[in-house]
Amino acid sequence: MTILRSQRGAIGTVGDVLILLLVLITIGVWWITQRNKPRAIPPPVPAAPVASAPLPIVTPSQTAPAPSLVAPPPSLPGGQLRPFTPGSLPGSQYAAAIETIHTLIEQGRDGDAEARLAALPREALNDEQIRQAAAVLWNNLGIIRQQSRGASAAVPAFKAAVALAPRDQTPRLNLTHAYVETKDPALTRDFLEETIQLAPNDPVAHVALADLLYAKDDLAGALLHLEQGRQRTPSGSPQRPYLDLVAARVSRAEQAEQKFSARESSHFLVKFNGNEDYDTWTKVLDILEDAYRDIGQKFNYFPGKPITVVLHTKNAFQTATGSPAWADGLYDGVLGRIQVPTQGALTDQAWLARVLRHEFVHALLHQRVEGGRVPQWLNEGLAMQLAGDNSWPDLDRVMKGDVALIPLGHLEGGWTGFPQNVATVAYLEGNSATAYLIERYGMGKVQDIIETLASHQPIAVAIKDRLLISYDEFQQRWSENINEKIRAGRS
Ligand SMILES: [Zn+2]
Repeated sequence: MTILRSQRGAIGTVGDVLILLLVLITIGVWWITQRNKPRAIPPPVPAAPVASAPLPIVTPSQTAPAPSLVAPPPSLPGGQLRPFTPGSLPGSQYAAAIETIHTLIEQGRDGDAEARLAALPREALNDEQIRQAAAVLWNNLGIIRQQSRGASAAVPAFKAAVALAPRDQTPRLNLTHAYVETKDPALTRDFLEETIQLAPNDPVAHVALADLLYAKDDLAGALLHLEQGRQRTPSGSPQRPYLDLVAARVSRAEQAEQKFSARESSHFLVKFNGNEDYDTWTKVLDILEDAYRDIGQKFNYFPGKPITVVLHTKNAFQTATGSPAWADGLYDGVLGRIQVPTQGALTDQAWLARVLRHEFVHALLHQRVEGGRVPQWLNEGLAMQLAGDNSWPDLDRVMKGDVALIPLGHLEGGWTGFPQNVATVAYLEGNSATAYLIERYGMGKVQDIIETLASHQPIAVAIKDRLLISYDEFQQRWSENINEKIRAGRS
């Protein structure tokens, strides 16, 4: 059988889907029959479609454009200057010094301005007018630093401004936004609550607080501040769709998990439905801690932030996660959490280990590339390869004849929109291309590629830089490898 002779880009998504549907009615039925009959001769092709057959593991990672709730809103306001009016301090002996500093800031001479601001004597700052003026100048110094050297360079100046004028909204917000942008540990709950008290209409402080509360699994608190942040973000702004999405996800999770219990291990927080899943909870933690050590070693990377894992009952899973009917587990990239359906003590251990390890790979990659993108074929392929999942057949055992594969470039984005049978081919290809990558080049090169993706480079650049061949060449070699195996299998 000849599969898909599409040139890259020549056939759009709809075309691919249609062709795949046709192809899959054939190979899908063959494969599903094969699953229960190892090494059987391919049966005649029945006419029935494959849509009703369950997949071994199908786990759409619901990766939205934005990396996670943890991320700051995509573009923060650039910080605000405070107006300073020369000649406004006629009575003070320090007026000249203040005006000089103002001029230095206007000229962009931030080093000189800082030295003079820091040298203002204590008694100068006892004068309320001078104190306010110095706060304005520290704030403005922070702004020009931020513009020239980034937010972290601006923090000390904003802090000095806040210390001199603690009730002034502008420096407080500038400091808060700089902390958010740099993920400064000073961004505590107390700090954010103080900011909100002073400037209740700032959406960034609300979203940052929602983020902190979410990290502590306080879903109701997180939702409250997400809503506040959302309502204060204009509906036309670029941040709004992201906030809408996160708020909807957190709201759904909050509804579903109201009666859940939570338990922690060193690297995971596992939530489950009270009595029902207590036994499973113990098993789940063992599997996860094993995965953490074992898979972490393979990537030479261990997630720093604890990963939340939610165990749903089989019946509640789909509603609680919004996952397609065919999914067995899910890593939600927006919420940064793993969700799995279980049936309490009855849950099949081998299945559970496979699903949890698979989702753990997604969670690990998500933290590893933070804001970068792992193409879906590689993301799923690595999850399948490292989950110890042998329930999927090799691509060459499913395909017949001279095979032209779907270009990997068509499998880089999300697959949630794919019908089940198209998703099946996508998973088979991702698994196969990744297996080839690991076999031919080794996990060290995979780590290198991930490192390049983490620096926000596309996969084509990562392959070129790390394997010293083009993306097209890689696909060509992989496809030849499949065809060789098919020929060997036939002879
Ligand atoms: Zn997956």
